[in-house]
Amino acid sequence: MSTKRILSILAKRYPGTGMTDLGNPEDTLIATLLSAQTTDVQVLRVYPGLRKKFPTLSDLAKTDVRKIEQCINSIGLYRNKAKAVKALAQTLLKEFGGKVPNTMQELVSLPGVGRKTASVVLSFSFKQPAIAVDTHVFRIAKRLGWAKGKNPQRVEKELMALIPKKQWSEINRTMVPFGRDVCKAPKPQCWRCPVRTWCPYPKKVILPP
Ligand code: SF4
Repeated sequence: MSTKRILSILAKRYPGTGMTDLGNPEDTLIATLLSAQTTDVQVLRVYPGLRKKFPTLSDLAKTDVRKIEQCINSIGLYRNKAKAVKALAQTLLKEFGGKVPNTMQELVSLPGVGRKTASVVLSFSFKQPAIAVDTHVFRIAKRLGWAKGKNPQRVEKELMALIPKKQWSEINRTMVPFGRDVCKAPKPQCWRCPVRTWCPYPKKVILPP
């Protein structure tokens, strides 16, 4: 079974949009930055309050970082993230005229923004082909035998070589809910998996406990 077909089966099963796709580049960028080592659900709980208190980039750039911390203190690494959000707002205003840039090179130059966050913004907000390798994409790509790399950047390269460009943006959007629902870490629920017949993972869990 081709990777293209397996992705199509999963995309049909999980047709929604990405959870941090908030409809515009600025919100998508900040929410994705906040989601490192935290669930998207937790981020979506605090994000509306943060933007209610600081509706513009200027508000975020000018405020005392402790006030940002207060809005997001229920998520992991909130102190570092508060600093990153303030620095991000300042840089967007100073160097990009208050607009989120739409190239990988510019996005990864922003404070707190790595390739994964940049790829999320490129694919969700700018509809550009990009593969955001988060913990779910990393794990599932390896279980399916699509990648062997030991870090997200290597896995991203392997996936880019294997999967047609027009499906790149589907990968994160599809694999994240699939990873949360079925192909979980550490134990996948393979008995519920729509692609188990074609999965080579040697530790498949075929029967429910
Ligand atoms: S068969 Fe199991 S390990 Fe393979 S993709 Fe499905 S859930 Fe994941």
